[in-house]
Amino acid sequence: ENIDMSIVSKKSKQIPGSLIREMFAMQAGMKDVISFALGEPDFTAPQHVVDATVASFRRGETHYTPNTGIPALRKAVAATYQARGLDYQPSEILIGAGAISLLNLACTAMLDIGDEVLLPDPGWANYKGLMMQVGAVPIPVKVKEENGFMYEIDDLRNAITPKTKVILINSPSNPTGGVASAENLRQISDLAKERNLYVLTDEIYRELIWDGEPYTSIASFPGMKERTVVVDGFSKKYAMTGFRLAWSAAPLEVTTVMTKLLENVLSSVNEGVQWGGVAALTGNQDCVEEMKCQYRRRRELIVKGLNNIEKISCLWPKGAFYAFANISGTGLKSQEFAMRLLQEQHVVVVPGTGFGQGGEGFIRLSYATSEKSIQEGLRRMEAFVKGL
Ligand code: PLP
Repeated sequence: ENIDMSIVSKKSKQIPGSLIREMFAMQAGMKDVISFALGEPDFTAPQHVVDATVASFRRGETHYTPNTGIPALRKAVAATYQARGLDYQPSEILIGAGAISLLNLACTAMLDIGDEVLLPDPGWANYKGLMMQVGAVPIPVKVKEENGFMYEIDDLRNAITPKTKVILINSPSNPTGGVASAENLRQISDLAKERNLYVLTDEIYRELIWDGEPYTSIASFPGMKERTVVVDGFSKKYAMTGFRLAWSAAPLEVTTVMTKLLENVLSSVNEGVQWGGVAALTGNQDCVEEMKCQYRRRRELIVKGLNNIEKISCLWPKGAFYAFANISGTGLKSQEFAMRLLQEQHVVVVPGTGFGQGGEGFIRLSYATSEKSIQEGLRRMEAFVKGL
């Protein structure tokens, strides 16, 4: 008899929950709350995408699809890479239920127990849990404000041990809005090849970049496609979070393994949603441009506004829809800042420490919210800081 035994595994107990959820719980019952916590577009999905989904269900397409996803969608995804000079074949594309599902499968496919993964700190909190779930070891690598919150190549190099297998890249980044430069990615790819490491790149915010430079994927460097798993999807670019639709692009060997694993979790994504994805990729892209136009205006408003508040500074985020503001000048720790701002001014922000210890001294504000809310939220934040 195992006296330590309980219905819940030890492994799952160790996996951290989300601080964002805690913040949500705190605001329950509060009136007149302004939230900068939302990690998703506030737009609804484009109408032609919804129509394509509904039409598919109405045609009676209510069955399983191939585990890999419908051929039309894999073809449409591969075509977007081909158009950017990245030679992915439809057979190397796998369709999943949200980027998170493919990150999860990629971890199982790439990692053995005890393998170490280098992750950005601050970085998206879920990465840690994903790694722990497969018995791999997340190794946080500090990404600094002065380096645009992207990896410094020497910091990566110093974190490598004989157990290191994968470098995780998230550019544009949640929570910082940082975007890796082509030069930075070239250095990382050289390091990966030199030390025989693999790369998992989360490119879910790829289309949301603001500085006019074309996006570079690490997979596009010579010799990198064969050692990289790319995860991307529809959630952010097309405001389709609730569709739960995404893809991975990876060498056939990995895609085949991920397909086998997907069968044990999802079997397949529902067909109507996949036709929505085809409509999104092959249809008119004006919807994306309109949303991007709004994000750009909100970004201006929030970053200028934050920098106008004494004791707060904010780097211009190069991508995604997050501002990562430095609040260390207020003398408060991130969590205390966020809690008091919520209690005193009913404004929700996420403490930087929700994304790792490297986030101490920062708060994350999502600007996927209306200009009116941004203005009012900034006004309240200024009042809060003045009153400290
Ligand atoms: N990766 C990052 C960095 C994210 O911020 C998110 C969502 O917040 C995801 C992945 C998950 O995307 P999806 O909704 O497609 O699962």
